[in-house]
Amino acid sequence: MGSPRHHDVVIVGGGNAGISLAAKLRRMGCQDVAVVEPKRVHHYRPLLSYVGGGMATLEELTRPQAKCIPSGCTWYANEVVGIDPDRSVVHLATGPDLHYTDVAVCPGSRVDWAAIPGSEEAVGTAAAATSYLPEQAVKTWTMLSSLTAGRAVFVISDRHVPCAPVGLKPLFMAADHWRRSGVLGDIVIELLVEGSRLVNHDDADRELRTAADSFGVRVRTRTTAEAVRASARSLRVRSPEGTDDLTYDALYLAPPHRAPQWVAASGLSTAEAAGFAAVDPHTLQHVRHPRVWGLGDVATVDTLPSGGALRRQVPVVAHNIAAQRAGRGLRRYDGYSVAPVTTNRRELLLAEFDRDGHPEPSVSTPDLARPRRSTFVFDRYLEPRIYWHRLLKGNVR
Ligand SMILES: Cc1cc2nc3c(=O)[nH]c(=O)nc-3n(C[C@H](O)[C@H](O)[C@H](O)COP(=O)(O)OP(=O)(O)OC[C@H]3O[C@@H](n4cnc5c(N)ncnc54)[C@H](O)[C@@H]3O)c2cc1C
Repeated sequence: MGSPRHHDVVIVGGGNAGISLAAKLRRMGCQDVAVVEPKRVHHYRPLLSYVGGGMATLEELTRPQAKCIPSGCTWYANEVVGIDPDRSVVHLATGPDLHYTDVAVCPGSRVDWAAIPGSEEAVGTAAAATSYLPEQAVKTWTMLSSLTAGRAVFVISDRHVPCAPVGLKPLFMAADHWRRSGVLGDIVIELLVEGSRLVNHDDADRELRTAADSFGVRVRTRTTAEAVRASARSLRVRSPEGTDDLTYDALYLAPPHRAPQWVAASGLSTAEAAGFAAVDPHTLQHVRHPRVWGLGDVATVDTLPSGGALRRQVPVVAHNIAAQRAGRGLRRYDGYSVAPVTTNRRELLLAEFDRDGHPEPSVSTPDLARPRRSTFVFDRYLEPRIYWHRLLKGNVR
């Protein structure tokens, strides 16, 4: 086990949130930051949707984790198995406990296969896939691009799915591919969305429905996939009209996600937070433990979890850790989030909104909520560079 060690700030999870926060804290002069992250590679996850649409490779979105950990930080290539917030201790799967002055909890969320019984078995077959996991993303495009006739069903859950509307990217990229290869007329495309809209932004929602119409997609909102029978290639579906069974030739899932179980076991959740880290969505401070902070997909930020949202959350947490120590007022996060969605293989729209669904565009013109070629190029080619060279370097304000 070894003797316990102390760090000024311990960051749990070295994904988008953890690395950006570590770098930001170092920039602000914090001398002793430790990151606990078991994975040896770091993924730029937004490109997974393009892998699922046949427009990017896994190599393009993968870097060695060692190259992402900011210089001057201590990296524990280890897994956190629990936190004792009363004693300010992080427990690792192997090795010594870590004591902290402040801890930032950002281990992300994970696919909750149990939420749709049969779904895990289904993605083990050639007829179902998800771009939400690196090991499934290439198969998503293999499945979609090899379909030449039949029924393609796309399921977008709204249960904690990271940046859920990007689940539409593989749909639109595939539909455009089917049109270009002359088989669109032979494929029935069904889109099942759990929420009442495709995205939490009026204009963008309208644009996406228009794009769906142009490809003949049958859109069903407030519709939930309840179970999958892989052997029969069949899906049990519940909608306001009732329950029915839908067969498929290709099934794409943006599946429900859940928080890691140790978060609740550590007393960091509440009944309402349903396993997620219960933070004040404005200050990102834990509701009961003032030295615990939460951000990213694991935290109850009361808005769509996304990488874009982290650009605003990271500086708030970094500032608030310092502000609390100095007895100054805490900064507030307004719930800004973003969903970039391709409408074909050339164009993309950007829905940006706050916690209440009010548009919050980052530029006043042009209107980025309309599909554009320039926005597509930005999202596919420039944004990954910004991620590696600016966001992971803590270059956020
Ligand atoms: C397919 C896909 C497409 C997306 N597209 C977009 C997009 O276009 N635009 C956008 O803004 N957002 C997008 N997102 C959302 C964005 O990627 C996430 O919101 C963001 O990655 C969340 O960052 P995070 O650090 O909270 O979680 P993650 O990035 O998931 O990182 C969590 C890290 O914690 C580590 N970890 C987990 N458990 C433990 C533990 N017990 N101990 C230590 N470490 C642990 C994990 O290994 C991981 O590295 C997409 C997500 C996916 C999956």
